[in-house]
Amino acid sequence: MKMIDLPDFHTHTPGKSLGILNLGIPESPSTGIYSMGLHPWYLNGNWEKALEILTKKLEDPRIVAVGECGFDGIRGPGLAIQKAAFEAQAALAKSLGLPIILHCVKGLHLLQEFLKKHSQPIIWHGFNLHPDAGKSLLGQPVYFSFGKHILVAGTQAQAWLKICPLDKVFFETDDSGLPIETIYRQASLILGLPIERLREVALGNWNRISSRKIHG
Ligand SMILES: [Zn+2]
Repeated sequence: MKMIDLPDFHTHTPGKSLGILNLGIPESPSTGIYSMGLHPWYLNGNWEKALEILTKKLEDPRIVAVGECGFDGIRGPGLAIQKAAFEAQAALAKSLGLPIILHCVKGLHLLQEFLKKHSQPIIWHGFNLHPDAGKSLLGQPVYFSFGKHILVAGTQAQAWLKICPLDKVFFETDDSGLPIETIYRQASLILGLPIERLREVALGNWNRISSRKIHG
């Protein structure tokens, strides 16, 4: 029996049939689907030039999300630049009806500040904060993408997945190099739901929030 294709909503590993491969601005899509954005680590004084390039590249319908972009309180330039670059990318994503793939390290307060003024789909990738942080975002169009952290017993990601509403979940491999099947299998054990159902749920979530649909 052939394995079903499982969607991987954020990956740095090329060649996956249903994977959203994350690309940087200088890269160009070949085949498949992509996300593209200005990662907070690499922002500098030229970010507005990079934003122009991003704006052009996003005309390609194979780029289905804007990101990774977001906030990093440990690495990258000052928060003024990070906030300006995030707001500009969020406006771009909104104009195209695309979700944002969020990188957020020590930046929950900045996301909350943003959400006071804006409402649009944001997928927090690699979420591994306390479930209270997850709960604090439930009234917002914020989604949670679960990856390698759910493989480890006792992590906050595991605790949050257990109680996170299903209409908020995605799954990813990020830069782990793991097969996406490993993540779905573990989520299936944690939630007591078949992998096929999780696949359907995650694809349904995507197609509800993005103008660029994924057909699984
Ligand atoms: Zn990543």
